[in-house]
Amino acid sequence: MAMLWVIYIPLGEDPTMDHHLTPISLDEPFRFACAKTVPCFNACCRDLNQFLTPYDILRLKHHLGMSSGDFLQRYCFQHTGPESGLPIVTLKPKAAPQLACPFVTARGCSVYVNRPSSCRTYPLVRAISKSRETGAINEHFMVLKETHCRGFNENKAQTVRQWLEQQGICVYNEFNDMLLDIISLKNQVRLAALDIKSRHLFHLALYDLDNFRCQLFENNLLDNAEMEPTMIEAIKSDDVTLLRFGIEWVKRGLFGR
Ligand code: SF4
Ligand code: SF4
Repeated sequence: MAMLWVIYIPLGEDPTMDHHLTPISLDEPFRFACAKTVPCFNACCRDLNQFLTPYDILRLKHHLGMSSGDFLQRYCFQHTGPESGLPIVTLKPKAAPQLACPFVTARGCSVYVNRPSSCRTYPLVRAISKSRETGAINEHFMVLKETHCRGFNENKAQTVRQWLEQQGICVYNEFNDMLLDIISLKNQVRLAALDIKSRHLFHLALYDLDNFRCQLFENNLLDNAEMEPTMIEAIKSDDVTLLRFGIEWVKRGLFGR
C-alpha cells in the first residue's frame, strides 16, 4: 500500500547533532519529567528556532488577547519555503546570545496553557504515515534524548499515550495533520513553487485569521457559497471554525480539491 510519511521533529532541535532518537510504541513507558526543580529549567526555551503552525498561532493570539496581524508582526518571522514557495512562520527570539523564547520567564512559560504543539510534544518526536488509498493516518513515536535535558534523570515514567493526554496535544495534532494534508496535496498537484498571490492567500487563510475574516465579509466572498446561515455566523465569531473553513478554502481555491 502506498504510504506518505511526514515527521514532526520538536522544533529548535537538530536530530543530526548531540541527540539520540529511540522508537517507542504508544503504550510503552519512558522515564521523563520536567519541573521547576530540574537543573536545566528553561534551557530548552533558548536558542530558539521554533516554527509555529496555524493552530499554534490561533491559541497564542487568544492567550495574549491580540489580533492575528498584531501577533504575527510582534512575535513572528515570516519565511518562504525555498522550493515549495509555502509560507513558514517562526517565533521571533529575544536578542542574542541567548535567543530566548519571547514567552519564557524566570518562573517558566508565560503562555503555558496555550503553548505551541512542539513544546507540548517534547521530548517525543511524532511521525505520521498516511495511506494514499484510504487516507487513514498511523502515528509513530520516538523519544529524543538530548544531553542538556535532565528530565530523563527524574524518577517519573509514563506511556506515550499518557504523555499525549497530559500535554493536551490531540487537538493540535488534528489541526497539524490537516496542514500536512494541504502540503501533501500541494506537492501532488503543484510541483512548482507557489507564486506570490497563492502564497499570500495561503498565509491569509491559515495564519492571519482575523484579516481573513475581514476579507471574507468586507468583500462578500461568502455570498455565493452554498452555506448554512449558522455556519456563516460561526465563521464570523469562532476562530476554530474559521480555521477549518480556511483549510478547505485553500484546498479548493489553490489546489482544486
Ligand atoms: S512557548 Fe513556552 S514552552 Fe515553548 S519555548 Fe516558549 S517559553 Fe518555552
Ligand atoms: S527537563 Fe528538558 S524539557 Fe524540562 S526544562 Fe530541562 S531541558 Fe527543558
